[in-house]
Amino acid sequence: MNVYFSEIKEKIMSSELDILDVFNRYIGGTFDRKGFCRCPFHNEKTPSFKLFRNNKSFYCFGCGAGGNIINLVSKALNIGYVEAMKRLDEDYSLGLFEKQIKTDTRRSKEAIETARKQLKNQQLQIKRKNNYFKLIDYFKELQEMPQNQAVSHDLAFMERLLDKWLSYENEPFDGVPADFNADVLIYALKSKFTNGEEVENG
Ligand SMILES: [Zn+2]
Repeated sequence: MNVYFSEIKEKIMSSELDILDVFNRYIGGTFDRKGFCRCPFHNEKTPSFKLFRNNKSFYCFGCGAGGNIINLVSKALNIGYVEAMKRLDEDYSLGLFEKQIKTDTRRSKEAIETARKQLKNQQLQIKRKNNYFKLIDYFKELQEMPQNQAVSHDLAFMERLLDKWLSYENEPFDGVPADFNADVLIYALKSKFTNGEEVENG
């Protein structure tokens, strides 16, 4: 039984529920002056079934059936332990499961929020990696270009950028916002050379 159900069990056990009342509701029977009743769980002529109201339990000295108030309902109605707790909760309006469901809703909302943050962080990491690979590619491209002052200027710039990128792997750093897009930067750097070529070619 998980924490959820064991908490409910404890609440039922410490509630105002009277096992005699519960017995009369679901089973019914006559108790003699010594507090014995004919056992509902086996055939007998002499009563050997007893309720212990102080600790909400029962025991049959004839067949050995026994347990707590929840076991009694479970056995009497032939339903599971949790079902028996739900039945008591409903029939006596204890409101235990209702509260539990609210708590669960809050917990799952928190879990969703945590998962959402993790996913966002993962997406950010992927974005940063993609940017990094694009910067590396362009760095290699620059290295293979015919070297001149403009190219070596950009190479030095890219080297510093990549160096910074590696030192701040998990967070944005000065001058590079979280929504940094390598494509835009590379486009801007490249356009200088492209325009140059166009001028040369034209
Ligand atoms: Zn019995």
